[in-house]
Amino acid sequence: MPAPEPAGPASGPRRRFRWVWRGLVFLILVGLVFILGSINVPFLEPDEPSEVILLYVFSTVVFLAFIIYGLVLTRYLARLYTEHRARQLGSKFKTKMVVGALALSLLPVIALFFLSYALVNRTLAKWFPRPLEIVRDDAVYIVEYLLRQHEDRARELARSLAENPDLQHQLASRNAAGLQQTLVRVAERRKLHWAAVVDTAGQPLAVHRHAGARGDFLHKLPELLEPRDAVAYTTSEKVSDSHFSLARVRVESARGVPLGAVVVAQPLSATLLAKVAEIESESQAYEAITQERKSYRWQALLILLLITILILLAGTWSALTLAKQVTVPIQALAIATEEVSRGNFDYRVNCPAQDELGTLVASFNQMTAQLGESRRRLEQAVRELDQRRQWMEAILESIPTGVVTLSPDLRILNANTGAEQFLASARGDARLEERLDPDTAAACAELISQAAHAGFAARPMDFRLSHRIAHVAVSVSALRHGGQSEGYVLVLDDLTDLLKAQKAAAWQEVAQRIAHEIKNPLTPIQLSADRIRRYLERDREADPVERGRYRDLIAQCASLIAQEVHGLKALVDEFSRFARFPRVQPVPTQLNQVVESTLALYRDSANGIRLRSELAVNLPVIPADPDLLRRVLINLIENATEAVARAVTKEIVVRTRHLPRQRCVELTVSDTGPGISPENKERLFLPFFSTKASGMGLGLAIVSRIVAEHHGRISIEDNTPTGASFRVELPTETPATA
Ligand code: ADP
Repeated sequence: MPAPEPAGPASGPRRRFRWVWRGLVFLILVGLVFILGSINVPFLEPDEPSEVILLYVFSTVVFLAFIIYGLVLTRYLARLYTEHRARQLGSKFKTKMVVGALALSLLPVIALFFLSYALVNRTLAKWFPRPLEIVRDDAVYIVEYLLRQHEDRARELARSLAENPDLQHQLASRNAAGLQQTLVRVAERRKLHWAAVVDTAGQPLAVHRHAGARGDFLHKLPELLEPRDAVAYTTSEKVSDSHFSLARVRVESARGVPLGAVVVAQPLSATLLAKVAEIESESQAYEAITQERKSYRWQALLILLLITILILLAGTWSALTLAKQVTVPIQALAIATEEVSRGNFDYRVNCPAQDELGTLVASFNQMTAQLGESRRRLEQAVRELDQRRQWMEAILESIPTGVVTLSPDLRILNANTGAEQFLASARGDARLEERLDPDTAAACAELISQAAHAGFAARPMDFRLSHRIAHVAVSVSALRHGGQSEGYVLVLDDLTDLLKAQKAAAWQEVAQRIAHEIKNPLTPIQLSADRIRRYLERDREADPVERGRYRDLIAQCASLIAQEVHGLKALVDEFSRFARFPRVQPVPTQLNQVVESTLALYRDSANGIRLRSELAVNLPVIPADPDLLRRVLINLIENATEAVARAVTKEIVVRTRHLPRQRCVELTVSDTGPGISPENKERLFLPFFSTKASGMGLGLAIVSRIVAEHHGRISIEDNTPTGASFRVELPTETPATA
């Protein structure tokens, strides 16, 4: 299966570059925000239009960046939410990181926000102190008060003029010349700047102008006379760069009939006027700045908010980035683990990971590679094992030897074709005893229990098959693992044909030897008989002296015949003794006693041979025939004595030993003679095999027969450093017969 599309090596640096780029933009933005937030930057008090544009551009950039970053963060958070909903691996960790980063940054950031806001407020308060405001308000009030005072004075002057009886009288009579005189007089006296008397229709009847007076107020008359109901009306006017208080008062007759009005214009002092103008302009400027204070506060608040949000954004972002650095490799590892658990050992994690996670990813890949390699090797080994098993099975099936595998409770697990002929057919996994006749089953059980102790046991047995009796060499090997029995392997070797052939060969050899042994004396007998016949023929014609010689010769021939016949008779006797072999009568026998009583016979023989015994203590009593055992021992010692006769070291050792695992006792007779050649070892136990001129070759055949009758085994080993060692094993219990 191909690995999923990884972030290839080429995308790694590109991605890193992207992050560096993003980080730089962010840093620049944070810097801008700080610059804008710092109080001493002249941009905040832009005077020039270019500065205003610059501030506008900066604010826009910051705002746009804020919007973009806000959108990016929202996208991240939305994605995190969907991942969380989908229970995607690593989303919990990411959420925790983000929540943790927010929780960590939120408290100090909010505290900082309020602190900074308080500081800004304080700075603004220092810029716009309360007393200055009071002074400004007072100054404005004083200026207004002064203006009002001046207006009041103008009105008072107008009123005093309107209450002049002469003026009232002249107005009532519409005496214009009189009116002019009275007006000038009073105006001169009162130092009026400009004064006029108008009739009820608003037409000026008399006008006074102080010498050097500026401004003509006649055109203002309609405006001043407008509020007709009002008895008096005052106002301030700026005329020809001078400030004037204008007052109009109604002139009434004694009976209260309106006769007309008096209008007075009085100028304010130039110095006062300048001061008032200064105070007013300063007040207006201050008012404008005070208006800006609110916008300063808002601006500071916004910048602080922006900083706060940017810090939160940065915290969240860095948390997400950090979490991503952890979760992405972990996610990749989890997917890889799943793949590996499914058996895909070719899967590799290609995700970029840093630090310890990088090591983890590398180690994981290495581990998977090793696992894959191990599995390949394992599969190879399994294949080879399977091939070997099939090979073994084929071999087992092709050999005639029967091989049966048994469970520890003697259930047949497997039997090859060779074994089938010895086992009765059965359904399912039968037990061994169910597939054998009772006697064979008992003998096999006996052998298996021996093997259970000794690890291996073997015995020849007769299997009663449907149409014949098979002589089978049965061997049992116990299967053990870690001290636990895992069953047995039963090997059944049909020796019937082999034994038949061996028997035939043995009989052939025996017949040859007997023929040879009989033929040897027959020739001298034949020759002697011929010579006797010839002597008897000559005897008839011979003289008495010669006759006597012939008789002696005949007597010699006769005695030779008698001697050879005696030899033949001895041979026949030995043979018939071998044939008339007595039956074994086992009684509980202590082997050591048999050995000691036999060795006692040789104690006094002075033939220079050292005969010693090494007998095991606590040797168990065995079922055996002591007389026959003695015969075995004598035979072996005799052979050993003859073997060491011409040796330099003449030593014979008889040993006994208990072999509890094999459930038998062991008797060995070792000598320091010339030993036995390998080809002779094979034929040693055959009747009439002998290397000696006078030997009958029946000794070891009889020994072997006696041992076999005792259900024991005899074997020959080489003695160290020289000589032969005959080993006889005799069972400690009478085995079941099969
Ligand atoms: P015999 O002693 O009559 O020859 P045996 O059956 O007793 O018959 O012995 C057969 C042959 O085995 C002997 O001829 C001899 O060659 C050989 N043999 C037996 N015992 C020994 C021994 N201890 N060392 C060497 N050869 C031996």
